Amino acid sequence: MHGHQSTIERTVTTEGIGLHSGRVTRVELVPAETNEGIVFIRTDLPGNPRVLARPESVNAEMLARATELCGPDGATAGTVEHLLASCLAMGIDNLLVKMDGPELPIHDGSALPYAKLLEKAGRKKLDAARRPWRLNRTVTFVTDHAEVVAIPAESMTIAFFAELAHHGIPDQSAEFQVGPGDFVADLAPARTWVFYDDVAGLLDAGKIKGGSLDCAIVIRDGQPMNTHYRLDQELARHKLLDFLGDLAILGRPVNALLTARGSGHRVHHQFIETLRKELYS
Ligand SMILES: [Zn+2]
Repeated sequence: MHGHQSTIERTVTTEGIGLHSGRVTRVELVPAETNEGIVFIRTDLPGNPRVLARPESVNAEMLARATELCGPDGATAGTVEHLLASCLAMGIDNLLVKMDGPELPIHDGSALPYAKLLEKAGRKKLDAARRPWRLNRTVTFVTDHAEVVAIPAESMTIAFFAELAHHGIPDQSAEFQVGPGDFVADLAPARTWVFYDDVAGLLDAGKIKGGSLDCAIVIRDGQPMNTHYRLDQELARHKLLDFLGDLAILGRPVNALLTARGSGHRVHHQFIETLRKELYS
C-alpha cells in the first residue's frame, strides 16, 4: 500500500434506498485532488456542506448498526462503511462523494455494488506519495464481550473472529491483507446480516425503513431464512468488511496486524480513538 495516492479516473453514479432512512439517494463519485481524502458532499442541503471521512466526524450517538459521519455544521452522511472499506481496499485515497440524501444506498447489503462501481470508475495515480500510518506500540481495547488488538507490522492485515456457537452456528473467522488481497472476490460480496429475533423488533419500530429482507441475511434458528450464503464464513467476512470500513476513517492504511473479536461499529470507533494516539507517519 505504498506508492502513489490515487483517485478515480472518471465520474460514476449509483442510486438506491438507505437502510435506516428509507430514502432513495443518488450518489455521484467524482475524482478528487491529492490529500483531499474521502469527502461526502450533501447536494440536497443549502450550501452543499461537506462531511469529511475523519475520526472527528464520527457520530458516536448513531453507531448501533451503521457508521454515520457528521460535519461541523450538522450535515450527516450515513452508512458510509461499505464504500469506505471499498476505497481503502482498492487503493482509492481521494474521492468526492456527492449525495442528495442523508444516507448511502444499502443495495444488497454488501460492498460489491460499490467495488464494481469503483472498478468502472477506474483508478488514476496522483502525483503525491501515500503515507501509511505507522504504530508506536501494540494497542489493545477490551470490553465485556469484545476485544480489538493492533500490532505494528510492515503492511495492513485485518482478521475478525465471530463467536456464533451460542447462536447455533459454528464460530467463523476471516482475514484480509490490504493490497494483495482480492477484495472483490473475497470480501466485497459478504452481506450485512442480522438475527431474526433482533430485526423483527426493529422492523416493527420502523427503525429499518429500507430494510426489506433483500438487503441482509436474516438468520433464524441458526440458518439463513431468506437466502443462501454466497461465501463460506460470510458472516465473519462481513464483520471484517465493516471493521475495514471503520478503520478507513483514519484516512490512510495503517501498517499493523489488526484483529477483532465480537466487536461492532461502536467498539471499533472506541478502539480507533485509542489507536490514533499511537499513530505516526
Ligand atoms: Zn456492514
